[in-house]
Amino acid sequence: MSPKKTRNLKFKAETRRVLDIVINSLYSHPDIFLRELVSNASDALDKLRFEMVRSSGLGEGRKLRIDIIPDTEARTLTVRDDGIGMTGDEMAAELGTIASSGTRSFLDSLEDGEDTETPEFIGQFGVGFYSAFMVADKVDVLSRKTGSDDPGHRWSSTGHESFTLREEDDLPEGTSIILHLKEEMSEYLQEYRLRELVRKYSDFITHPVYIDTGEEADSEPVNTRQPIWTRSESDVPSEEYDEFFQNLTLAHEPPLSRLVYHAEGTIEFKALLFVPSGRVMEMMLPDYKAGVRLYIRKVLIKEEADELLPRYLRFLKGVVESDDLPLNISRETLQENRTVQVIRNALTGKVISWFEKLLEEEPETFTKLFENFGDLIKEGIYSDAAHRERLADLLLVWTSRSGDERKSLRKLVEELPEDTDRIFYITGTDRKELASSPYLESAGGSGTEVLLFDSPVDEFMLQSLGEYRGKRLVSLLTETGEEDLTEAEKSEKHHAEETYKGLLEYMKDQLGEGVEDVRFSPRLTDAPCIIVMDRNDPGEMLRQMMRSMNQEMPDAKRILELNPVHPVITVMQDLYEKDRSGEKLADMVRTLFDLGLVMTGGRPDDPAGFGQRVARLLASEYEAGDPE
Ligand code: ADP
Ligand code: MG
Repeated sequence: MSPKKTRNLKFKAETRRVLDIVINSLYSHPDIFLRELVSNASDALDKLRFEMVRSSGLGEGRKLRIDIIPDTEARTLTVRDDGIGMTGDEMAAELGTIASSGTRSFLDSLEDGEDTETPEFIGQFGVGFYSAFMVADKVDVLSRKTGSDDPGHRWSSTGHESFTLREEDDLPEGTSIILHLKEEMSEYLQEYRLRELVRKYSDFITHPVYIDTGEEADSEPVNTRQPIWTRSESDVPSEEYDEFFQNLTLAHEPPLSRLVYHAEGTIEFKALLFVPSGRVMEMMLPDYKAGVRLYIRKVLIKEEADELLPRYLRFLKGVVESDDLPLNISRETLQENRTVQVIRNALTGKVISWFEKLLEEEPETFTKLFENFGDLIKEGIYSDAAHRERLADLLLVWTSRSGDERKSLRKLVEELPEDTDRIFYITGTDRKELASSPYLESAGGSGTEVLLFDSPVDEFMLQSLGEYRGKRLVSLLTETGEEDLTEAEKSEKHHAEETYKGLLEYMKDQLGEGVEDVRFSPRLTDAPCIIVMDRNDPGEMLRQMMRSMNQEMPDAKRILELNPVHPVITVMQDLYEKDRSGEKLADMVRTLFDLGLVMTGGRPDDPAGFGQRVARLLASEYEAGDPE
């Protein structure tokens, strides 16, 4: 045996940088090294499989498998494949420079000042082969190229400045990566840990992965290889989906519903999405980590890829896989990537159709979905203009007549008479209180169904919606605009304004600063008056929200609307004509205003004064009725 020459070679400068970062900054996420090595082994097997198709005889009798071999005595972990292998020159080139596209874009984004500490950063790059140095203080690569007369070589490095390359005899074709584990990395010698990592990151690698502990060689592969999301829904028992969901999310309950979608066409992808059975409070927090798992060519690229769905669909869990995306895609490019955008649009449309179908065919399931995630659908109505109409079709609403069951807004509107061009609503915090709100009465007639909105997102949603299926959404809490009135109501209003012109002016004078305007509202039926807000007022809930964020918010401007046919108006008009400078008319005006406040759940600005005035009015009534 002739003595073998050992070549001593230096890493290229940028490779040293990557090594440095991998070893120092990414140090807190060492688990991913196994994913990287298994994915390289799998690539090598793919390449060989490809060559085998073209040249007969090549790689004959190969098992095309990946072996992970922990050796507790030697404290080494070996990842072996019988794939394509490398020649000596290839090893010097591929493992000595940053050959890989993944490592290249990793370096590029470092130059862009990316935050390298965050786990998301790591998750989305193949940091590649060099990740081996996170767990090993020395790495040997034994490799021999399949079907080549190049002898095998041993590449060896401690991950610092340089590596050595030496010819070896009798190496089998393929590659073994031997990691001499660092002292503190002994966990990677434990079978259960390795099993866990393969299941987590590489379960769907198409080649079989074995863990060889020496005891039971050639048992079952660790990875399942056939991703559940690639299988046709009719072939998979429901329990398997449920189990997958529960493993994925660590949920205790099975999902509420699932979507299996295999998109075909110019851009192909497969999606398996779930609606969880319950809501987690964190979903409403700004830093909630949304997203589905993204696989590209069977490799897990990102655990929480929130680029694939709009933010309001953050309650969905699951997996998306596309082979039309490049494996080395990075965070920025993921967001801007055209293919990702196409997938996101297609997926959003598909999710909405899924919900539409649930609403139609499984109303009970949909109701549960809406109870838990309705606020997020509402968020979509104001944040996703492109899907606003379809999302609004999904709304379930409380109404003045719905009792304890929400109604589909769409159905409700479809059942309205053709000529109805407005829908009334009120907003508040408590549905039960809203159901008996005095504002309901200004919907004009007791028969009119009024929508009751009791969630903080409703006001945002209503403001961006404006109308639904051609019907104006009209708040009963804000002033009655001319456009909110029917022709008959308009003429009634104008008539009252003529008749009681002087009285109106007098009332405005009396109420002064406390009120922005006094008007007639022919929509009122029984109540003498009502207090409403200026049309441009942001609304009580928004006001509270802004204040809780320390934003200055002026008080609401109040408008007093009067019922033109209520007897109180006639009495006041009478007094106005006979004794407009008297105490009594002034008392009545103030009291009427305070009454409006009380009826709408407020309190008089001056409760003591209100009490005295009411007492005076009662006494005068008594006097009047007293025979003299
Ligand atoms: P990438 O996989 O993105 O190309 P890596 O840093 O993971 O980058 O690997 C660098 C290169 O080393 C690969 O492109 C491949 O040429 C070579 N390589 C690594 N592992 C193996 C292996 N097990 N068999 C054959 N070639 C390998
Ligand atoms: Mg790789």
